[in-house]
Amino acid sequence: MDQNPYDTYSCAEVHYDERGLEGDDSGQSAMPKDIYNAPYARKGAILRALGWDTGVWGKRGMETPYCIFKPVGLLPKRQYCASDALWLRIASQVHDIEMIQYLRTAWERWKGMPMKNRCKFFRREKDGESDPAAVPALVPSNFAQRSEPGSKAGTDVHSQTNWYHTDDETPIFEGLLETLESDILVALKTSEAMLRWRQNLKARPQSRYFYSLVTHPGHHAGKSSIGGYCYVNIAALIAHHILHPAAPEEYYGQSKYEKVAILDVDYHCGNGTISIFWDRPDVFVASIHADPSGDYPWNSGFADQIGEGAGEGKTLNLPLTPGAGWAEYEKALRAALAAIKDFGAEAIVVSLGLDTHRDVPVQEKATAGMGLTSEDYFEMGKLLGGANLQLAFVQEGGYQVAVAGQLVAQVFRGVEAEFNRTLSRKRRLD
Ligand SMILES: [Zn+2]
Repeated sequence: MDQNPYDTYSCAEVHYDERGLEGDDSGQSAMPKDIYNAPYARKGAILRALGWDTGVWGKRGMETPYCIFKPVGLLPKRQYCASDALWLRIASQVHDIEMIQYLRTAWERWKGMPMKNRCKFFRREKDGESDPAAVPALVPSNFAQRSEPGSKAGTDVHSQTNWYHTDDETPIFEGLLETLESDILVALKTSEAMLRWRQNLKARPQSRYFYSLVTHPGHHAGKSSIGGYCYVNIAALIAHHILHPAAPEEYYGQSKYEKVAILDVDYHCGNGTISIFWDRPDVFVASIHADPSGDYPWNSGFADQIGEGAGEGKTLNLPLTPGAGWAEYEKALRAALAAIKDFGAEAIVVSLGLDTHRDVPVQEKATAGMGLTSEDYFEMGKLLGGANLQLAFVQEGGYQVAVAGQLVAQVFRGVEAEFNRTLSRKRRLD
């Protein structure tokens, strides 16, 4: 009998959008230059390292037949084509509607103000900017004490900026909104692909995994806060969407998921993701990260923070000791995967940060730090592939553009190695 090609190839479906793929960030957007974060350059570098060379939909990489590229821009947007529907029906399901309204309107409101009304401490200049007419980016000048009584978001854009931002490293700037919309679309396309794949799972083995290669990371974006370079929580969107598809019930039949896990392997705690699912019973969140006593985000990620109410016990924080290497990391990863199995998850959304690598400049080496090598990322992929659950990777942080792509490729090679081992064993047994 002829082998179905799907049986012989396992592969990663890479969903992305082609915005800003050429050159570096300074030439691509009005985002003020950041010493660490270059999201557009990172996305391009990862795509190239994975063997992408054109925008052709559904094309496999030449050297990387385990990657199939699916640019969203070339697909009909169907029910998401209206920007209102995209934001309000989808993003508001994991973020508070007021924060979404702020994100959508802040730039135009601020830019539209007479210069004299734009408060001066809310400006982040673009590096090397010489044009005095150029509008700099919007950042907070003060942080609201939201946990104290007597504070509120208010209606003025400056008040709201102080309310919703948790730092001044996550600016609002010209063109941001369009990129975020593309990122949301990438997340939705990834979710739909997962649902479709699950529908046909009986005919195909569990050999396809998915990658949402978004521009901006998302795991520090909370229910009603933005920070740590994150605006919209992509991993949360995917997890929520495969549990509660926006499409009519009959469209996906029995394929929607009942229980999903998010596994955050970024160096920093996925505090935004944790906040979103804190009291929800249907999403288990495990995060392996540097101890918050020694590094960002400082107030989330402690082992005794386990969720609340219906979500109690559904949050697992695994802070590592300063300078942790693979031996300690592997133990934590195995513990996270065991807990995810116990929970009964049918899929794992992996928040894939690449900043656990030992040479990453953002780590507070004196008080925290991690020391994974490129080979360790291969081992990480093997363990994830061995979980035997549907996998969807979401791009989070990564601050060495030169090696970011190699690290993603290493994870995928690890997944491939494990899948191929399992498939060949299955064939021998058949
Ligand atoms: Zn990070």
